[in-house]
Amino acid sequence: MASGPGSTPEPISRLVEAFHRLPGIGPKSAQRLAYHVLRAPQQEAESLASAVLDVKQRITLCGTCMNITEQDPCLMCSDEMRDRTAICVVEQPLDIVALERSSGFDGRYHVLHGVLDPMEGVGPDDLKVRELLLRLKDGSVTEIVMATNPSLEGEATAMYLHRLIAPLGIRVTRLARGLPSGADLEYADDVTLSRAFEGRQEIG
Ligand code: ZN
Repeated sequence: MASGPGSTPEPISRLVEAFHRLPGIGPKSAQRLAYHVLRAPQQEAESLASAVLDVKQRITLCGTCMNITEQDPCLMCSDEMRDRTAICVVEQPLDIVALERSSGFDGRYHVLHGVLDPMEGVGPDDLKVRELLLRLKDGSVTEIVMATNPSLEGEATAMYLHRLIAPLGIRVTRLARGLPSGADLEYADDVTLSRAFEGRQEIG
């Protein structure tokens, strides 16, 4: 696209597009952010760019729990004080942050990186399901706590995993109701979360 008089210079429209691709950023906000960067001091723009690159270059997934980490295995997987017999299954890394804050659980975690969503074409192979089943092979895990969100997809994912895991003789529990239906775990308050943990119930 040639930039004639009155049209937006290519570097700016490229940045606007990049911001627009971010979740929750509409075209207006994208434009505002791009022009903010344009007006910002060189140093601020450079620190934004390097923060974006750093997060891709320095953060990897833990080979065990699939959580984001700077070292593999992650700090939680290598913490011998944590209970090895229980794994709490969550959708996203941010869910672990919320659950840890409520301190209702001292076992290990497993991050699925999503939920089953047939409408969006997300199946078991798109999630870290195989990696979870591998962790159950040696028989040391005796309880799986399903902490997927109380949404339609979150419930369906918990049921699906229950059907896979229960036949292995492992107790599968679900966080107690009380979490607002359809609400993200990430936004639940600490008291609600620790109650949901205390009152977890067997599935099925
Ligand atoms: Zn880990």
